[in-house]
Amino acid sequence: MEALRWEIPGKTTYPLEQNGLTYQVAFEGNTVQVYEDGQLLIEEDLSEEVLNHHRNPSVPLENQLLSWAQMVLNQFIQPCGQCRQVRLSFPLELTTLAHLAGFYESQGIHSICPSCTIAKERELEEQGKTMKESFLRGELQILGGTEEEIQRILNSAASLSIRHYIQSLGKTWRTGMLKFSDHRFYLVAMKVGEEQLDTFLLLARDSHGKLASLPPETGLPALGFQEGDELELLAFEK
Ligand SMILES: [Zn+2]
Repeated sequence: MEALRWEIPGKTTYPLEQNGLTYQVAFEGNTVQVYEDGQLLIEEDLSEEVLNHHRNPSVPLENQLLSWAQMVLNQFIQPCGQCRQVRLSFPLELTTLAHLAGFYESQGIHSICPSCTIAKERELEEQGKTMKESFLRGELQILGGTEEEIQRILNSAASLSIRHYIQSLGKTWRTGMLKFSDHRFYLVAMKVGEEQLDTFLLLARDSHGKLASLPPETGLPALGFQEGDELELLAFEK
């Protein structure tokens, strides 16, 4: 790859062409912006910590900024696992699709470009809508009931398909239970982060008996949850 050069030292680089796309990097204060074909794709706050880490008193700061930008381009201009185009593509964990990392990795996809990320987000949004509509039509049954009924589902043959479903979401997902303040219980897939719960999905079954899930923004209103109602999430032992 051709080397980045300053157009305005310390501020903007000359556009650099790579695989038919242009890249330009701009620094403003502690912020760095990386453009691909004029589109802002990376914006990072190079906080004190990052700058200090890279700061070597014997090398002018401008040179260090430039080599940092070069390193970012070298690292992230790579084939997108989805569309195969060589362009800025990011590890799933750094994208809004981090919750699907397990699914993508099972398909051998480790990084994804922003266009494919946006396309997938739209697809998920559409799926969510379809899911909500089928729920409202009564074709989708959210798995829940009393605590005993939840236990019965988990002790039945269905527990295996539930486990597979949750495993397919990724390794940080666990089976759990959502408790409403009125003592209704629902089965959920919970994404557990380093220290806290990231998100959860309500588990449901369609009219063919296939497992599906509803995100909280769709599932909770569908269950009649209102602001002020109390919710409790309980994880089951792995
Ligand atoms: Zn792509």
